Amino acid sequence: MRGDVNVMALQDCKPDGGRYIEPEDVMEVDAMKRRSFLAAAGLAMFGARAVAGEREFPVMLSEDEWRARLTPAQFAVLRDHATERPFTNSLKGERSPLLDEARAGTYNCAGCGHGLYRSETKYDSRTGWPSFWDAIEGGVGTQTDRRFFMVRTEVHCANCGGHQGHIFTDGPEPTGKRHCINGLAMTFTPDATGEVEGLPIGA
Ligand SMILES: [Zn+2]
Repeated sequence: MRGDVNVMALQDCKPDGGRYIEPEDVMEVDAMKRRSFLAAAGLAMFGARAVAGEREFPVMLSEDEWRARLTPAQFAVLRDHATERPFTNSLKGERSPLLDEARAGTYNCAGCGHGLYRSETKYDSRTGWPSFWDAIEGGVGTQTDRRFFMVRTEVHCANCGGHQGHIFTDGPEPTGKRHCINGLAMTFTPDATGEVEGLPIGA
């Protein structure tokens, strides 16, 4: 029966702004179906669409508010799950300078300023994207990304939900994880100055 529910949820979510189904949503629909098949059949039509929208985060802004706050490239990555080009870290005529950033400091979410990564965990993965082997505790959240016929671990800001990148399992010790992050999704605060830097520049 679970397969039926998954298909129903997926079909119901497809037209909803292109957002993909999240595991929690499927589980929620599953739980409803266990309680009552008839109720689930009715609720899935409305409920699945509702729970597949924006998830709850401490910082929640409307699309217009995000567009006003972010550059076009930042919006595309953070709010629309776009991916910048590797090595140039460019998108929409903007470029992030953070790939080669090597000073001690904190990498923040470009959407809300939340601290995500520390310089001590940054390394050169040779992929062309800023890479880290661990996040700051409480910095990020993850979910399963099934787009493009792949199953990947999506990583986002725990404070505003802004998309950062993906986590892979080919990273260095001690975690073995590679957090592959869009430079455009972050800013950088050097310990030496405490001033926010690393905003997009012209590509
Ligand atoms: Zn954020």
